[in-house]
Amino acid sequence: MPTLVIIGHGMATNRLLETLGKDHPFSSIIVLSDELNAHYNRLMLSLLLAQETTIDNITPHDETWYQQRRIDCRFGCRVQAIDPQQRTLHIRQNNQQHTLSYHTLVIATGASTVIPAEAYAFDNQMGFRQLSDVERLSAFAQQQAHVTVIGGGLLGIEAAVGLTQQGAKVTLLHRNPVLMNRQLDHTASEILTHALQQRGIEVQCGAQHIQLIPDNKQPKRIAAVAFQHDDRTHRQPCDLVVYAIGIRPNKQLAEAAGIPCGSGIIVDQWMATGCDAIYALGECCEFEGNTYGLVAPIWQQVEVLAQQLQQPDNATHTTRQAQPYVEQDHLTKLKVSGINIHSMGRISDEEGDEQLELQAAPYGLYRKIWLRNGRIQGALCVGDVSLSPWLFEQLIEQRDLTEQGYTALFGATQPESGV
Ligand SMILES: Cc1cc2nc3c(=O)[nH]c(=O)nc-3n(C[C@H](O)[C@H](O)[C@H](O)COP(=O)(O)OP(=O)(O)OC[C@H]3O[C@@H](n4cnc5c(N)ncnc54)[C@H](O)[C@@H]3O)c2cc1C
Repeated sequence: MPTLVIIGHGMATNRLLETLGKDHPFSSIIVLSDELNAHYNRLMLSLLLAQETTIDNITPHDETWYQQRRIDCRFGCRVQAIDPQQRTLHIRQNNQQHTLSYHTLVIATGASTVIPAEAYAFDNQMGFRQLSDVERLSAFAQQQAHVTVIGGGLLGIEAAVGLTQQGAKVTLLHRNPVLMNRQLDHTASEILTHALQQRGIEVQCGAQHIQLIPDNKQPKRIAAVAFQHDDRTHRQPCDLVVYAIGIRPNKQLAEAAGIPCGSGIIVDQWMATGCDAIYALGECCEFEGNTYGLVAPIWQQVEVLAQQLQQPDNATHTTRQAQPYVEQDHLTKLKVSGINIHSMGRISDEEGDEQLELQAAPYGLYRKIWLRNGRIQGALCVGDVSLSPWLFEQLIEQRDLTEQGYTALFGATQPESGV
């Protein structure tokens, strides 16, 4: 009976194990994780940092669950090399090396935080990715440290809020003039900035030429961050710098094994890599030039791969039975309690778009839809997100809302009287 080996025990692997269920065709599934603790929900680390949940609440399964599915989880176990010819892995665990054979291999190694080269010279900088990061961030916050978070995307904002809630004084620096600029427009960013400032976070959008200033007495310590804003140079003293400027797929293992890679590990529409019996999914992979940073597309990838793995012996390139993976639009939600923001599709003006908008910015309310030929291309809900599931459905189904006119701003129900 064949063995399935999975490298990495993050969000993609957990979803794959749940989807494969108890009736999978493998004698056993071995999951190799370089983290020391059992699988937890990485998305919820923001809420853990904000002290709004506990580690128990974000740990979905106990030992029995894994046993019932013939899953053998190995922690603190780093895969150092893949040998696709011999179908073996070289592993380091507890300072010992050993090899492990596989019949089918899934690489789900995720991604790493981008840390600029100049920051490696310093000890008081870090990313926000793992459970161990929450522990370190909390220790700084509880000493009322001054933390500079660099990067005002989803992750940087959630880190800034969590740190503030634990007592840190936080400055959030973002290069773009618009916070979460992939998901928000200027108005939504202004509302969000105001909400963050009300929580005590100092927000600096449009911060340019960000530089780390070393401590004169302790050269491995950052004393301050300098940046330019409005043609002036600012100097912000800090005890810790947290980077949230992007992620990079963990493709090194695959690349060293000769598996074709671009920015990530290249997969086809069935999540197969260029090597026999080796699949990849999640943030480590690349499909049609796209890499990933949110779970929604990964859940779709899991559906495709789980179907594929149900027939381990006939899963060749010519006998694929699973539905292929296709790119779709996704709904992004900011996870900060009291600040509701949902964003979907394309959030930018293009010639030929019709834009519908409803605004009460002083009350934190804003809704905007970008339409083309009556079909939603993108939408934003700030404050009141109750319409977001309906808008998302119209976007995915590409329904023609021409007849509905401006009432699309209110959803399926039309107001009783016209304007
Ligand atoms: C704080 C935080 C909040 C987030 N919030 C959201 C959100 O609200 N919505 C959203 O859609 N996405 C969110 N994300 C992104 C989301 O968590 C990722 O998209 C998702 O975790 C990717 O899943 P993955 O399995 O590909 O990678 P991961 O979950 O990172 O899992 C990869 C695992 O592989 C391990 N690994 C790597 N190399 C090796 C090796 N050689 N040997 C053994 N193990 C290895 C890694 O240590 C890791 O445990 C958030 C991320 C963070 C950090």
